[in-house]
Formats: sequence, C-alpha cells, structure tokens
Amino acid sequence: MRMILLGPPGSGKGTQAQKLIEKFQVPQVSTGDLFRSAAKNQTALGKKAKEYMDRGALVPDQVVIGMVEERMKQPDCKKGFILDGFPRTIPQAQALDKMLAGLGMNVDAVVEVDVPDQEVVRRISGRRTCRNCSAMYHIEFNKPKAAGKCDKCGSELYQRDDDKEEVIKSRLKVYHDQTAPLVEFYSKKNLVKKVDGIGSIDEIFGKVIGALGAK
Ligand code: ADP
Ligand code: ADP
Ligand code: ZN
Repeated sequence: MRMILLGPPGSGKGTQAQKLIEKFQVPQVSTGDLFRSAAKNQTALGKKAKEYMDRGALVPDQVVIGMVEERMKQPDCKKGFILDGFPRTIPQAQALDKMLAGLGMNVDAVVEVDVPDQEVVRRISGRRTCRNCSAMYHIEFNKPKAAGKCDKCGSELYQRDDDKEEVIKSRLKVYHDQTAPLVEFYSKKNLVKKVDGIGSIDEIFGKVIGALGAK
C-alpha cells in the first residue's frame, strides 16, 4: 500500500490516515507533522519551516523534498506508506516519482478527498491538535472524551497558529493555485480515486476503503 491523500487543508486527510495506518499497518508520512515536530525541537529546519507555515505559505520545494527523501529511506517505509500533505506542488510530485523509481517503487493510488471550502473553514477553525502525539480533534465534530485532553496520550490539546481565521484563507488559496493541479497530474497516470469527504469520519473511511478496492 503506497498511497497519497490529496485534498485541501482541513479536509480530513490526517484523520483518515490515522485509521488507514491501523488497517494497512504502514506508516503515515505527514510533512506537516514532521515540520511541526522540527519546529518544537527548534532545529534549523524547524525554525525555517515555521516562518512559512505561520503565514500559510508553502515551505520551499527543496526543503520538503530533502526531508521526505530522508523519511522514505527509513526501513518502515519498505512495506508501504500513506503520504499525507505531500506532494503539494508539481515539482514535489515529480521529485517523488524520481525518488520512488530510485527505490524500485511506485505510487499505487491517490485518494482525492473532496470537501468544499466553506466546510473546510468550519473544520479547520475548530481543530485542536495534541501537543504530544499530533492526534486531531474538533471542538464540535470530534470531541475528545475530556475537554482539552488527548484521548490517546492525555496530553494538552492546542490550536495551531496557522489554524486561525486570518491564515486559513491564504492556505486555501495556496491549495487551489499550487496543489489542486496535482489532480490532473495523477489523473493522467490513472491513479486518482475521488471520494466525497462530507459525512461522518467512519462513513468517509468506508468510502476510502471502497475506492482502494480493499475490504
Ligand atoms: P487535514 O489533515 O486534511 O488538514 P484533519 O484530519 O486534521 O484534516 O481534519 C481537520 C478537522 O476536521 C479536525 O478538527 C478533524 O477532527 C475534523 N474532521 C475530520 N474529519 C471530519 C469529518 N468527516 N466530519 C467533520 N469533521 C471532521
Ligand atoms: P493541513 O493539515 O492543513 O493540510 P499540514 O499539517 O499538512 O496542513 O501543513 C501545515 C503547513 O506545513 C502548510 O501550510 C505548509 O506551510 C507546510 N507544509 C506541509 N507539507 C508541505 C509540503 N508538502 N510542501 C510545502 N509546505 C508544506
Ligand atoms: Zn496525544
């Protein structure tokens, strides 16, 4: 299982990835999580990435590609992976093709999660993220059992700096300008499975599994 989850910010990619990794027993590779963890650890990469993230811009391609290349070389990615938030530009997709070819691999499927902008705004503005394990919640649609605490690890939930109203608009524009063209890029390779991202988390999971032709 080597798949890409494609969709606007807040469409539920990370939430679905969490369920997919359990089902398929492959790692989730979330470039956003990798950058946030680097920023938390105050590494040079993390500090640089945060400048872009906080204003809703994309981190430069070379930086992202180098980081993903390192991650894909880890032994756990041999059995497969779920890419969440990468690629986000055509040059990143081309670099991914090249790096996978070098490892004797290819992408099996690209699941496009289709959610309209106004719904995405509702989802992002209510998102809360675990400081420790990155699990995602929503103050209305996916509440933690105890307010402000992660169900999985008990750590504090917080609102990401880039999940504030002012930044969401820029992120959506970036998605439509730079990431949406990937649908056509992967359609030409016959890899795209489009899934309606409206409905409960479990309903959407069922649709994703169906689209992948798994049971
Ligand atoms: P992405 O990884 O695409 O940015 P997330 O998985 O973090 O998206 O989801 C964004 C927000 O929407 C989170 O707060 C999450 O709990 C919530 N969410 C995810 N799936 C659904 C859904 N099907 N219905 C309502 N809210 C959802
Ligand atoms: P979302 O959950 O909203 O889809 P992510 O956690 O995937 O957001 O990404 C958060 C931010 O991290 C992005 O707005 C961008 O600044 C940076 N980022 C993550 N992945 C990439 C990527 N593939 N290319 C460039 N920037 C990225
Ligand atoms: Zn947690």
